[in-house]
Amino acid sequence: MREEVFTLAEVREGRIHPVSFELLAWGRTLADKLATNLSAIVLGDDLEDQLEELIFYGADTVEFFKHPELDVFNIENYSEVLVPFIREIMPDILLAGATTTGRTFMPYLAGKLKTGLTADCTSLDIEEDTGLLLQTRPAIGGNVLATIKTPKYRPQMATVRPKGRKPLPRDDDREGKITIHSVDNNFSPRVRRIGFTKRENEISLVDAEIVISGGKGLKEPKNFSLLFDIAKDLNGAVGASRSAVDMGWVSYPHQVGLSGKTVNPKLYIACGISGAVQHLAGMLNSENIIAINKDPDAPIFQVANLGIVGDVLEILPLLKKMLQEKLKRNV
Ligand code: FAD
Repeated sequence: MREEVFTLAEVREGRIHPVSFELLAWGRTLADKLATNLSAIVLGDDLEDQLEELIFYGADTVEFFKHPELDVFNIENYSEVLVPFIREIMPDILLAGATTTGRTFMPYLAGKLKTGLTADCTSLDIEEDTGLLLQTRPAIGGNVLATIKTPKYRPQMATVRPKGRKPLPRDDDREGKITIHSVDNNFSPRVRRIGFTKRENEISLVDAEIVISGGKGLKEPKNFSLLFDIAKDLNGAVGASRSAVDMGWVSYPHQVGLSGKTVNPKLYIACGISGAVQHLAGMLNSENIIAINKDPDAPIFQVANLGIVGDVLEILPLLKKMLQEKLKRNV
């Protein structure tokens, strides 16, 4: 067994996805604590000119598996290549993003490798005495934080929630080793991608540069339509506190926080949200935070760059009107 930390870089539409660099930040901390090597695995085709970026963002080595059939994610092709490689190397730790790809592939891979997997971790660390990976994630409907260990089997596998951590600063003085594995498999997967259609007009909450979120202060489900209108005008996405989701005002995929999504947009607008620690856990990394709350002592104001004390149901219609006038002027 090689005591190494591996991350699985993600490739979308021929580009290394930003989550790959976030994974390297997690992996770097773990590898440094274990005094070991950090390696990024990449599967794809014409990616040679992007591989060095992984070194600049923290990897010591890059293992690139090159084949035209690996150009887009395919669970069978990926595992056909990775299972023998992982079995041979048997790294200590293997991390991937808790993205659609990571959530699809890692359980399949863990099953093939007969090891454990902790999905959707919000935090990772190394246990001092044992060197084991501590994999923390919300559990039991988000009511507890469970820390899980994989003492007997290897690799210790985890998926990590995107945006939970910023990539390390890019350092183009870093040096590392890039190995290109030419893959000569005759892939015959049972499932093939025949096309890809992106949903129009839908901005993902996690990728949005502007997020406007609503909480219990919005009072009624119908008031969320104000947020959707404003988000549309701002080219942003709508988030929510858990209270708003629990009351059925908006669906769970909109929830921001410890047991929801983690976001770090350029601008986060919190409307009628108190600022409980569990909510802050999902948005504290936002570059700018505007909070609207009628209670001047609401904890959200402690993290806001701009605080507006007032009734959100009076302020939001004004904001909507102002944006629409501005948009009309710009037409
Ligand atoms: P409240 O705390 O009730 O706050 C409502 C706010 O609206 C108040 O500050 C009030 O002053 C303001 N307000 C009321 N009327 C108006 C008005 N007319 N105009 C302006 N302001 C007004 N929460 C999350 O959000 N995300 C999570 O992922 C999450 N995970 C959790 C996990 C665990 C394990 C636990 C225990 C809790 C979790 N919570 C989470 C719940 C969290 O503790 C809070 O209960 C929740 O965030 C509160 O939501 P809220 O701010 O909408 O409601």
